[in-house]
Amino acid sequence: MDKEAIFNFLVYNGEVYSTSEVNPAKSIKNSSIYEVIRIIEGIPLYLEEHIERLRKSAHLLNKKLSVSDEEIISYIHKLIDSNKEYNNNIKILCIGSENDFDEIYVYFIKSFYPPKSFYKEGIHTVLYKTERQKPNAKIFNKNLRNLISEKLQKEKAFEALLVNKNGDITEGSRSNLFFVKDEKIYTPPASKVLLGVTRKKILDLCKRNNIEVVEKDISVNEIAEYDGVFITGTSIDVLPVKTINNVKFDSSENNIILTLSKIYIKDREDYVNQKRKEMFKMGKLIDRFLKYVKMETTSNSESQTYPSTNSQLDFARVLVEELKEIGLKDASVDSNGYVMATLPANTDRDIPTIGFIAHMDTSPDMTAKNVNPQIIKNYDGSDLVLNSEKNIVLSPKDFPELKKYIGEDLITTDGTTLLGADDKAGIAEIITAIEYLVNNPEIEHGTVKVAFTPDEEIGRGADKFDVEKFGADFAYTIDGGEVGELEYENFNAAYAKVKIKGRNVHPGSAKNKMINSILIAMKFNSMLPANEIPAHTEGYEGFYHLNDINGNVEETTLYYIIRDHDRDKFEEKKRKLMKVAEYLNDDIGEKVIEVEMKDQYYNMKEKIKPVIHIVEIAEKAMKEVGVTPIIKPIRGGTDGARLSYMGLPCPNIFTGGHNFHGKFEYIPIKSMKKAVEVIIKIIKLYSK
Ligand SMILES: [Zn+2]
Repeated sequence: MDKEAIFNFLVYNGEVYSTSEVNPAKSIKNSSIYEVIRIIEGIPLYLEEHIERLRKSAHLLNKKLSVSDEEIISYIHKLIDSNKEYNNNIKILCIGSENDFDEIYVYFIKSFYPPKSFYKEGIHTVLYKTERQKPNAKIFNKNLRNLISEKLQKEKAFEALLVNKNGDITEGSRSNLFFVKDEKIYTPPASKVLLGVTRKKILDLCKRNNIEVVEKDISVNEIAEYDGVFITGTSIDVLPVKTINNVKFDSSENNIILTLSKIYIKDREDYVNQKRKEMFKMGKLIDRFLKYVKMETTSNSESQTYPSTNSQLDFARVLVEELKEIGLKDASVDSNGYVMATLPANTDRDIPTIGFIAHMDTSPDMTAKNVNPQIIKNYDGSDLVLNSEKNIVLSPKDFPELKKYIGEDLITTDGTTLLGADDKAGIAEIITAIEYLVNNPEIEHGTVKVAFTPDEEIGRGADKFDVEKFGADFAYTIDGGEVGELEYENFNAAYAKVKIKGRNVHPGSAKNKMINSILIAMKFNSMLPANEIPAHTEGYEGFYHLNDINGNVEETTLYYIIRDHDRDKFEEKKRKLMKVAEYLNDDIGEKVIEVEMKDQYYNMKEKIKPVIHIVEIAEKAMKEVGVTPIIKPIRGGTDGARLSYMGLPCPNIFTGGHNFHGKFEYIPIKSMKKAVEVIIKIIKLYSK
């Protein structure tokens, strides 16, 4: 059996094998389906259309492909990378079981790209009587292929044109067929031919360039009436036909054919250039992220140093090196562990300086030692067993939003650590976006600043942030959750320490003498609105939260935090608490209650409002890259809030992650890519 796969390696169901070990030709059955795709400079040409057609072929045989688009794409890139071959045709061969095509081979095949002389002179073709069973499906038929090969060799022809039982010419054995007469193009009806990807492109391009196309049966008897003939295909582009049997055409000098050929080549080149850019854009995003999460950077609230842990400094140094590598020359880390870098403007126009900020530490709530990220390909909506030994399962029953990501690739933990998407996804996304701008200098942009901060998770991320040195007009933290999140409102926050002094007397002789501070504490709390507590509030509803209490008869202390998005309501809550203390002091006739109250942070909205365009632009950027903005108030504080009050207005944008700070943390890869696109889009929108 002949070996079809060339070069050293092929990919079978996602794994790389030596072509001397595995021979896909051995598994070929008549029901197999396949696609041939041309690789140009490492880019699979018109890949989306080929995959779509592969699925259609499967469908025509009442089967499904068992792999996602992303998987097929990753197989192709594995093949290209392992062979280091960048300009050749590949074949995707899918072999079916009962219901599915579940054996997927991807390999390079012998390719022939016609030399210039073929285009200049046109090619010789012959007619061949046969008919495909299912003309629209690309099904392997070895017998026919062999018979045609023989015929071509014998007749010294480049292609055989198939003729059906009605005497109509339908298509080439490996190409689609077009005739030209009086500036019009004629081609056999779609129902009777294999719908080539190049054919489809040609029809699109004709439409866009006002070239009329007529689909009709073309009888062998009438071919001499046409001015020109050409065939199209993956390897041949638009190839003029000089002869069909012994009928001659001036195809290589036909104006319509020449024009169409030029238009097609231009489209092909544009496609490759566009894809190369996109590939570059996301190229290292996931590799970066996987590398970052494996570096442990847990912060520590017990520590008195800046940053709170040395591991964050190690990570900061790695990030500085990486920023330098992508071309940000001034990248540096200061003694407190803050990484800053600049992408200089590439225009003189007056464009604001925009900052992007993410934090390097991960939450002390869960260990980040030996993070072992798992990539779940083509998530099917079922339970994900993160750790079978410990029976740790990430289930849509507990996290129904998982269902939104069916068909996507997810990155999860192995159930023993947190993931650290909060906020290493933010870092990977920012660096990838900046790298894209560095590599695409034709995109005009103003100065872009980048900062990676330590100790966000222990509330110190803004402490030593040098806003002046950073020098941005405004910034975005990339530190939110699910795709689309956009936040610019957070709580106003204060804490209150309520100290109650009692008077202890022997309980047997306590009448009118004892003051039990515990009972006063209970009364105190009961006088606050019972429904304004975390367990009864959501959205914009504020609360009093009693988060600690300790005491005895002699002295009791209550610790509250007070939260509200609305500044007036926030002040009102604080007043109410003070009033309760006053009332009880009056009631007892003695000042037994002392309240120590202090504001902690404020709603950044007040600082964002005067520059609300920064939210509007972020919203617009999301919509333009196909993300629905989810704007909601943060029920907490952020470093961005503190930075806003330090003079750097700073809304928060999604990273794409879910279930932060715990073992069920996960992030869909597509959401990460969207975050990169949003960052780039914001920069572009401000440069308009
Ligand atoms: Zn975070």
